[in-house]
Amino acid sequence: EKGMSTEELAYNLAIGEGELLGYLYSKGVRFHGLRTLDRDIVKMVCEKYNVEVLDVDPMKVEEMAKKKEIFDEDDLDKLKERPPVITIMGHVDHGKTTLLDYIRKSKVAASEAGGITQGIGAYKVQVPFDGKSLPCIFLDTPGHEAFGAMRARGARVTDIAVIVVAADDGIRPQTNEAIAHAKAAGVPIVIAINKIDKDGASPDRVMQELSSIGLMPEEWGGDIPMVKISALRGENIDDLLETIMLVAELQELKANPDRTAKGTVIEAGLDKSKGPVATFIVQNGTLRTGDIVVCGEAVGKVRALFDDRGIRVDEAGPSIPVQVIGLNNVPLAGDEFEVVSSLDIAREKAEARAEALREEHIAAKAGEGKITLSSLA
Ligand code: GDP
Ligand code: MG
Repeated sequence: EKGMSTEELAYNLAIGEGELLGYLYSKGVRFHGLRTLDRDIVKMVCEKYNVEVLDVDPMKVEEMAKKKEIFDEDDLDKLKERPPVITIMGHVDHGKTTLLDYIRKSKVAASEAGGITQGIGAYKVQVPFDGKSLPCIFLDTPGHEAFGAMRARGARVTDIAVIVVAADDGIRPQTNEAIAHAKAAGVPIVIAINKIDKDGASPDRVMQELSSIGLMPEEWGGDIPMVKISALRGENIDDLLETIMLVAELQELKANPDRTAKGTVIEAGLDKSKGPVATFIVQNGTLRTGDIVVCGEAVGKVRALFDDRGIRVDEAGPSIPVQVIGLNNVPLAGDEFEVVSSLDIAREKAEARAEALREEHIAAKAGEGKITLSSLA
């Protein structure tokens, strides 16, 4: 299922979405649910606005995607299970923050809870599942931004998208946007129907709405898990977490912990005393203090690692978020990092990346007034 949303196309054409929708309506285009446009319609609209469409070879897109592939051949027989990484998205005020707060408070052991001194943009909770206590990583950055910015840069760190829909409000624009993000990234969706404690809450109506846009609840024979919760009262949150773990189990999430680390930056900034600090999600291998990393255009030797509770750790394995001190520069969210064997190599790689970025930038400038259909992928 590929397509460009009307929002994305309007943005690319620098026109209002309303104007675009008006034009599409006049051409007889009708939507049922998601406002996704296929290639032919995108071309028709671009013609009207005198914008050239650059077609991109799907093979090339595939190739680019492979380059972002995180495993090497050598890893394949050494893969071990890794925790799932989850992003919570949904319309404003539907309860994302309340849900995250509840999960964090209830699932981070009381003794540890006091240790949450500073947010690092992600945290780890332990979920009882299948007779065990399994770790699960939640990204704390506002879901849409994290998805949008990282998707634009080709990064994919999320394994599961939890989309919160308020039972007294139903599907709203940012709900649709969240669904579109998750679909575009090929990430499985779990729906949390929230605020079931409220007067006027109608979970059935929400399920009806969702099925009308192609998300059929498991309860009704479809394949989308939907859990009815009250984030405020903590009702059914355990069900939600269990559902997330089931979806994770089906994905067979794996990585090779016994190799040098690779992963993605999810947050970065400049700290007055520590200098550049970045939160990494390790996606393959194990990151250790003393490792030499290249990260976007930044390089450095890892001086210290801090976990999601601000506690100093020596290493971080697959899926684990960790704050890194020791970079010479502030990288960007979505930048990939990897461990290399020397600072010279790190600098060379950083230089090559900077060069590639400059070229991309020049190409982008030359292509102004053109849309690349790779964004359809
Ligand atoms: P966000 O914008 O999606 O992060 O939404 P918030 O978590 O900030 O919640 C928006 C409002 O809805 C707040 O006033 C919450 O207290 C309230 N809220 C969130 N979850 C629930 C719920 O399960 N039941 C009720 N009654 N209110 C809720
Ligand atoms: Mg919020």
